[in-house]
Amino acid sequence: MPLNSHSSLLNNGSNIDTLTIVTNKVHCCFDKADAFFGNTFNRPTCNLKQRGRAAGTAHLQKNEVRFNVFMYSQNPEEFISTVVPHEAAHIIVFQIYGSSAKPHGKEWQAVMLKVFGIKPNRTHCFDVPPPKQVFEYFCDCNRHEFTKRRHTKVQQGVLYICKACKASLQFKG
Ligand SMILES: [Zn+2]
Ligand SMILES: [Zn+2]
Repeated sequence: MPLNSHSSLLNNGSNIDTLTIVTNKVHCCFDKADAFFGNTFNRPTCNLKQRGRAAGTAHLQKNEVRFNVFMYSQNPEEFISTVVPHEAAHIIVFQIYGSSAKPHGKEWQAVMLKVFGIKPNRTHCFDVPPPKQVFEYFCDCNRHEFTKRRHTKVQQGVLYICKACKASLQFKG
């Protein structure tokens, strides 16, 4: 696949979904690694299950890469050109060196620099999602986290009972 092929994919908009775009880019990275090392690396499965502060995570034993669609949507071009190769490099390093190589050590940096031609940055520059608002409630035995929706119901008079101790849950502001 040519170097800039992802930009034409992105411009197709709704025809091609996010998972296809990131998976294509992962395969593009693996094609480069195959050519560089004269090897055939095992392509990982990709999904969009990543949540929270990480833009992506490489699950080495499962040969799986999870991407954060919240961050992808902030800047697809940036995500495709930085986050995808970052995670692909983790998988490639693992397939060459096993778990002896450090996560962002010299092997990983070399793959980023020499195979992908990218400055090896450990961190991303995307905004992280706002922390979920939780409301703390207590019964006689435990602490319970309520969503805003449930907290509103309590304020409207709904009573919640702990399944374990049968006490009513009290808001501790
Ligand atoms: Zn990393
Ligand atoms: Zn309880």
